[in-house]
Amino acid sequence: MKGNAKVPLRQCTGCREMKSKKEMIRVIRTAEGEIQLDFTGKKNGRGAYICADAECLRKAIKSHGLERSLKTAIPQEVYEQLEKELAGKDGS
Ligand SMILES: [Zn+2]
Repeated sequence: MKGNAKVPLRQCTGCREMKSKKEMIRVIRTAEGEIQLDFTGKKNGRGAYICADAECLRKAIKSHGLERSLKTAIPQEVYEQLEKELAGKDGS
């Protein structure tokens, strides 16, 4: 990794704030139309971002932000996977 002065910012589908990719979880839609969580940031596909924050997940579910970003339905299991992932984090 090279030092990069410009941090790429992505918009959270929950709170709509722009944040650095490092603080976020990437959700992708693969070419096959599958929805996956991408923790490496390297998977191919259309991506949407959400802060690693349970509050943002709740907002995204409510506003259908992920569905809108990825232009497809998000399976319940993907939300459950996200919930599990975020439950282990306490914000700091
Ligand atoms: Zn957020």
